[in-house]
Amino acid sequence: MTNANVRVRFAPSPTGYFHLGSARTALYNWLFAQHTGGSFILRIEDTDRTRYHPEALPDLLDSLRWLGWFWDEGPEVGGSYGPYYQSDRAELYRQYADQLIQDGKAYRCYCTPERLAALREEQRRERFKPGYDRRCRYITSAQIAEFEAQGLRSVVRLMTPTEGQTAFEDLLRGRIVVENAELDDLVLLKSDGYPTYHLANVVDDHLMQISHILRGEEWLPSVPKHVLLYDALGWSIPAQVHLPTILDPSGKGKLSKRRQRGPGEAERLTFIHEFRQTGYLPEAMTNFLALVGWAYDAETELFTRDELIRYFDLDDVSKSPAAFSYEKLDHMNAVYIRGLGDNDLANRLLQILRRAGLDADYGRILQFAPLVKERLRTLSDAVDLLDFAFVDGHMPDPDTLVQKAMGVDGTRQALRESAKALYELPSFDEEAIEETLRGLVDASDFKIRDYFGALRVGLTGKRVSPPLFETMAILGRQDTVQRLRRAADALDAAE
Ligand code: GLU
Repeated sequence: MTNANVRVRFAPSPTGYFHLGSARTALYNWLFAQHTGGSFILRIEDTDRTRYHPEALPDLLDSLRWLGWFWDEGPEVGGSYGPYYQSDRAELYRQYADQLIQDGKAYRCYCTPERLAALREEQRRERFKPGYDRRCRYITSAQIAEFEAQGLRSVVRLMTPTEGQTAFEDLLRGRIVVENAELDDLVLLKSDGYPTYHLANVVDDHLMQISHILRGEEWLPSVPKHVLLYDALGWSIPAQVHLPTILDPSGKGKLSKRRQRGPGEAERLTFIHEFRQTGYLPEAMTNFLALVGWAYDAETELFTRDELIRYFDLDDVSKSPAAFSYEKLDHMNAVYIRGLGDNDLANRLLQILRRAGLDADYGRILQFAPLVKERLRTLSDAVDLLDFAFVDGHMPDPDTLVQKAMGVDGTRQALRESAKALYELPSFDEEAIEETLRGLVDASDFKIRDYFGALRVGLTGKRVSPPLFETMAILGRQDTVQRLRRAADALDAAE
């Protein structure tokens, strides 16, 4: 489907860091726009000043750029339907609220917060349905004039029909009907003159000519209210698509917006910048998130960005909740890392290693890249695996160094004789290193696993490292020999 008239929006409120759930909504909007050749609009719904979080917006924009989901209109890029910050549009919403009052479709409500609280309390006590009792809807103009003269603050409420039904179509869920008697007289404008989410959202979706609204299922209860508001304004409502809820890995609860931890589990990542810092690839995140609620067929899991754009279709979006599996994401991330060219991987590792405080250089990382590629679940796994290569003068811990079967003396002997043989080796390459060291093991009383274990810890300080001979070849003769000697000396010192 190509349709340049498709205009979709992602409309976050800057109340916190950009998290997985919002990212999935942003992605589906972006994919749908790309798929149809339409436009992807980014609108910042920042009218609730009490919940404003100053880091939310930079975090969002950085994350979207990192993911490569660029917006056609919105902050920084502008567009013909701006401004794209709702806080810059406050006057506009007031005008529409006034117009609705003039048309007899909305009214000013002067009830104080104290009166509303008392009302709620009474409704609770009497077990009545909670909601506004519409007192101000029926006051006379004389009373209004009196309230105004007293300088009472007011909100603007929509005159919701008290009878009949409101219906709408959701492209995934079909026709949804609610009884108007269930709906309250929606507040459109707050007493501070700022719009509620409902008014601002409806006005902007209309003025920005949004064709399809793709948002989380949790917004479904708002739609009947919006339908009434569109009606009151004489506008038609964009197509509705309410995306399935994302469940936590157990499939039992909703995936939380905040940091979360299951019983006995490590803390799980939630915010996109955390995934970025941990070394998930944006390609893997995109592929993975696309599958949380959408499938191309029953088995295909790996999709390039272009394939996702080509195949993404609203018809294949599921309406049942989808569980988020961190294991699956890790697995997919590892697949994407394996698919990277060495230069590409080295570039990405350079940033991660430097951020971890290592004085890493590109040339050496590039040499290690093919050796570690298969072992990385995330890029930051490389920190533990490679830090040894970028520190000078490290001292292996004698407890890790000494191999049980070899004892202190045997371990020291293996380190010293290997250092000597490697020092004298005519050509210091991987094959020659391997041949020499295997020769030493054969001539010794030790098992290959123990002998090389001692050398590995002596060289890297770790029991797990990239392949031994290649690592030696990359570190070079001088460094290798020095490390092995130093390890032997460490055993002297420990005695
Ligand atoms: N500002 C709302 C949010 O934070 C937008 C909901 C919608 O897409 O209508 O998610």
